Amino acid sequence: MEKAFLIKYGEIALKGKNRRTFEESLVKQIQFALKDMDAEFEVTRPTGRIFVESKDEFDVDEALEALQHVFGIVAICPAVLTEDKGFDELAKEVVAYVDHVYPDKHFTFKVDSRRARKNYPMNSMELNAAIGEKLLEAFPEMKVDVHNPEVMIHVEIRERINFYCKEIPGPGGMPVGTNGSAMLLLSGGIDSPVAGYMIAKRGVTLDATYFHAPPYTSERAKQKVVDLAKQVSKYAGPIRLHVVNFTDIQLYIYEQCPHEELTIIMRRYMMKIAEHFAYEDGDLGLITGESIGQVASQTMQSLECTNAVCTLPVYRPLIGFDKQEIIERSEKIGTYETSILPYEDCCTIFVAKHPVTKPRRSVIENSEKKLAEKIDELVDVAINTTETLMVTP
Ligand code: ATP
Ligand code: MG
Repeated sequence: MEKAFLIKYGEIALKGKNRRTFEESLVKQIQFALKDMDAEFEVTRPTGRIFVESKDEFDVDEALEALQHVFGIVAICPAVLTEDKGFDELAKEVVAYVDHVYPDKHFTFKVDSRRARKNYPMNSMELNAAIGEKLLEAFPEMKVDVHNPEVMIHVEIRERINFYCKEIPGPGGMPVGTNGSAMLLLSGGIDSPVAGYMIAKRGVTLDATYFHAPPYTSERAKQKVVDLAKQVSKYAGPIRLHVVNFTDIQLYIYEQCPHEELTIIMRRYMMKIAEHFAYEDGDLGLITGESIGQVASQTMQSLECTNAVCTLPVYRPLIGFDKQEIIERSEKIGTYETSILPYEDCCTIFVAKHPVTKPRRSVIENSEKKLAEKIDELVDVAINTTETLMVTP
């Protein structure tokens, strides 16, 4: 019966121009989320509201699932949108709607009407009472409870009239496109896809960089990362993914530097190269999935060492999370199953038995001097041979 959705969004803190940007981005993201459905949707924006509707038949659950991926949406209300054909007709339609949504009528309810169009012949109090009465006439099992109703029946009189009684939670956050862009260091692990999700949730558009080490890492390991980027792009929109061949840099570090410092030195070069693409893409920050103390390369000392090579801010949205909390989020957003596929990661190939856990930056910088002869050239080659793809769901 519902051919439309009323979209609720957190507009409270928004003023003036911000609000327009927010709403325009939200409309754009809603259209993006629905573009692969069979039906054509129209997204309209009367003051303070967003409606999504279609003249075609469509699967309400499928549309709902798509809308639940749009950041900025606080709630989605499947609604009936109808022309004003007088009160009697409206009451009939509301009665039929309640009948359709709630086959079992043993519940308490309240009608909550709003009149955005003041020339409607009844005010909202009169509407509440009159619609309530019609409902009670039609379904004597229903009972009014104005304080704590089980079902709230919303009726809104605008140019057209809409009514709805269910509110499905959206993901919250801010529409992607309202807060600049950032470069995600995306690996095939559990953490970095979640980190990307969390920053995108604040309205940030994502680019991504993945380092692989063929032939030590396989085509399947790369495909896994592309798949993860696809899953994140369901929420974040299209992601520009740079795939960097890191093999020669990794081998060179392995040859020249103490093995227990390998991971830290490698991570410093990853950050530098990701930052190169970040500047190229106009990004305002880097994003990693690091959390304090999770592994040797994520102690406070290690983070200080890797952070030191960056000039852009590095955002680590998982910094205070336990692994279990990160796993729960990745299950919720749908990346977990892919993340745990057992393909090799470039960092684990040359991993030392006893990596330093408290590296000193001066010592690391000293070790890196041994790379002086060839490293700039290798970094240039890695950058110039990078493959860039656009990832969409
Ligand atoms: P993840 O689950 O995200 O792989 P992790 O627990 O395995 O994280 P590390 O391997 O130390 O942790 O990596 C820390 C962060 O560095 C990752 O969250 C990611 O942002 C980045 N990173 C690690 N490996 C790669 C890679 N091969 N390509 C791109 N980024 C990477
Ligand atoms: Mg990893």
